[in-house]
Amino acid sequence: MDFNIKTWLECLDCDRKYDVDELRYSCDCGGTLDVKRDLDSVDGKALKELWESRWGMKRGVLSSGVWRYKELILDLPEDQIVTRQEGNTRLYDAGLAGKYAGLKNFLLKHEGENPTGSFKDRGMTCGATAAKMYNASVVACASTGNTSASMASYAAVSGMKSVIFIPEGKIAYGKLAQALAFNGKTLQIEGNFDDAMTLVQEVCKELNIYLLNSINPFRIEGQKAIGFEILQQLDWEVPDWFIIPGGNLGNNSALSKGLQELYQLGIINKIPRIAVIQASGANPLYTMWKEHTEFKAVKDPDTIATAIKIGNPVSWKKSMRGLEWSNGVVEEVSEQEIMDAKAMVDAAGIGAEPASCCSVAGAKKLVDAGIIDPDAKVVGILTGNILKDPDAVIGYHQDTLGKMGIKGTYANKPVVIKATIAAVKAALEV
Ligand SMILES: *Cc1c(COP(=O)(O)O)cnc(C)c1O
Ligand SMILES: [Zn+2]
Repeated sequence: MDFNIKTWLECLDCDRKYDVDELRYSCDCGGTLDVKRDLDSVDGKALKELWESRWGMKRGVLSSGVWRYKELILDLPEDQIVTRQEGNTRLYDAGLAGKYAGLKNFLLKHEGENPTGSFKDRGMTCGATAAKMYNASVVACASTGNTSASMASYAAVSGMKSVIFIPEGKIAYGKLAQALAFNGKTLQIEGNFDDAMTLVQEVCKELNIYLLNSINPFRIEGQKAIGFEILQQLDWEVPDWFIIPGGNLGNNSALSKGLQELYQLGIINKIPRIAVIQASGANPLYTMWKEHTEFKAVKDPDTIATAIKIGNPVSWKKSMRGLEWSNGVVEEVSEQEIMDAKAMVDAAGIGAEPASCCSVAGAKKLVDAGIIDPDAKVVGILTGNILKDPDAVIGYHQDTLGKMGIKGTYANKPVVIKATIAAVKAALEV
């Protein structure tokens, strides 16, 4: 069955429409663009049945957890799609992390199980496909790490060159390693992520390189599939809450956009609430939402959760739109709260990188504040793999993060002993 849904780009600020064939990242007025669809005449029930028929496909483009939903992602012929069969990630019972958060029904969607270890692959499969659609041969992004790892991989599998702009200072080793390994041309610039973001936009314009930051509307389209897949895993039963970390704010914008489309199509008939969690040291959305003020960038963002160390997020308007639609909330969590929640996610046997664990730290805070009911059905998104940032794990468990004001509250310290049975017995207290 072919749905052929009419699709165009539309400015968030002035509603001006552009053809999808026209390569552009922003409106002439400077506003950000959105992919829009005419869903009025679409048979939602038939679309859902088509997606169900693809569930569990063994190989090929449609076995991807993004392209299974291609009618609402980017509806191109299969041979034009760049994919690593991303998605199809697990939805775990939160176990220990659920008890810690005070929730009885807490599931964790582990997007760290994607091909390069973060949800960025869902956006990147779509972004790289768009790059090919526009006949690009070079792609670029500014990145705190995971976007560059993902882009370098998707560029490599599809025969494109990739150029990566990373901020100076700490970038998690697992991520940098991937970017180099996948042969991304890696430029470390003097300045923070926000400076890198400004620079890459200018470079792409000047040198005719295709920009793959989340300002790119097609990356948002791919990331919508996180929500689609969670709902399909839940047999389309809508949870009460989704909890998701917020950095550049593309992911939560994508989640709410996708849910909105499902709601419009009647595929779901309840609107879940969305909670976006920021680190206290990089919290511009939180401040704006909490104090009902104008958007104001955070000058020198800082957090151990490097994936969300962003002071001037490009997608804040899209994010606010989703929060309004879903009656959502924004919360902030401290460095200690992030790392203690991470210790619980890790000790539960699941494991994730620091930024991901904002979902659990935020859940606990919102339950404690009485905003989320302990009986509510809650899905937290774990955005990245535990091995992305081994330094953070070792630092916490060796209790050496004191200079960042973080204590190893639940540290599991390695023990050095003599090679004797007696020493082992003493260490195991038997
Ligand atoms: C990119 C990223 C985030 C932040 O997502 P945004 O879309 O920028 O808000 C959170 N966690 C991880 C692991 C990431 O890679
Ligand atoms: Zn405009």
